[in-house]
Formats: sequence, structure tokens, C-alpha cells
Amino acid sequence: MAVLPIYTDGSPPLRKKAQPVTEFNDELIKLVMDMFETMRKANGIGLAANQVGILKRVIVIDVSEMEGLEDIKPFALINPEIVKGKDLLSMEEGCLSIPQIRDEVERAGEITVRYKDTSFRDATLEAGGILARVILHEVDHLDGILFIDHLSPARRKFHADALRKIRHGEMEVDYAVVTAADIPV
Ligand SMILES: [Zn+2]
Repeated sequence: MAVLPIYTDGSPPLRKKAQPVTEFNDELIKLVMDMFETMRKANGIGLAANQVGILKRVIVIDVSEMEGLEDIKPFALINPEIVKGKDLLSMEEGCLSIPQIRDEVERAGEITVRYKDTSFRDATLEAGGILARVILHEVDHLDGILFIDHLSPARRKFHADALRKIRHGEMEVDYAVVTAADIPV
């Protein structure tokens, strides 16, 4: 397993649409394993393949360290599709690709998601609370959308300086990153 660097805001993979996985093979399993390793190292609760520069529709989730969610084992969702969402809920979010910025985002509080598991079998999950929130945030990543896109212009303005710093690679994180400043134009 390998820990991969995490792409931060301003780097191109975060703004691209990831493609559906069509082949179930060792490469896919390796990607999932590496993503789990990378997420753990960065103390994240969710990670989308775009965030490690891979444009495939794969996300990994681990909320088992959170209070009351210990029973939810870490799992991966391949080709996830939100089929139902209801009850808007505002919750604070952060993102490994946008270090140190947190803000309230309104999303569906209850969802149904269809996906393939790591055996490439069809699965359906009904989720609420933090789990629903993480899944929606990560599925957004697969479509090139970041949580800051959901903020009001006023809130984006509030974060403008911090965002500018991230795009210039000026941030302090204790995990490996690829910033926009690292990528040749
Ligand atoms: Zn994120």
C-alpha cells in the first residue's frame, strides 16, 4: 500500500469529472487500498479518487472514529449514484483538499446511494447524518465540485485570502500534498 499525495484546491484533477469504473481488476483494488491508507494518514473521514489525481469514480469512507458511528466499518463505493435525497440539513464541512477552511453547507440529510462494493457487487445504502454528509461531499468531488462551491458569495469572500494561500501552496498540513503551485502551467 502507498500513501499518495493529496491534490489541493486549484489543481486540475479536482475540477474534472471522474469516469465510471468499467473493469474490476487488481489495479482497482490497489487504488482502493492506497486511498484508505492516504485517508488514514491525513485523518480524513472520506476521500475521492480525484483528490489523489485519479479520475475514476471511487470513494472511500471511514467514520468509525466518530462518536456513535463505531459500528460502521470503513468501506469503498465504486460508481456511486445518489438515487434519493431528502430533508435539507445544514452542517459544517471541511475538506482535505482545502485545508483549514470549514463552513456550513446545506445538503440532503437522508440519502439512498447505489454503488458497487469492493467485490464489484451491486449495493444499496440508506444513510443519514454525518454518513450521508460525507457521501454527498465525496460524490461531489467525482463531479469536480468542491464544498466551497455551495457557499454564498459573502462566505466565499470571507474565505478568499485563505483560498488564495492554498492556491499558492502556502499552507501547513501534516500530510503530503500537490498544490496548484507544484503543477507547471
Ligand atoms: Zn473534500
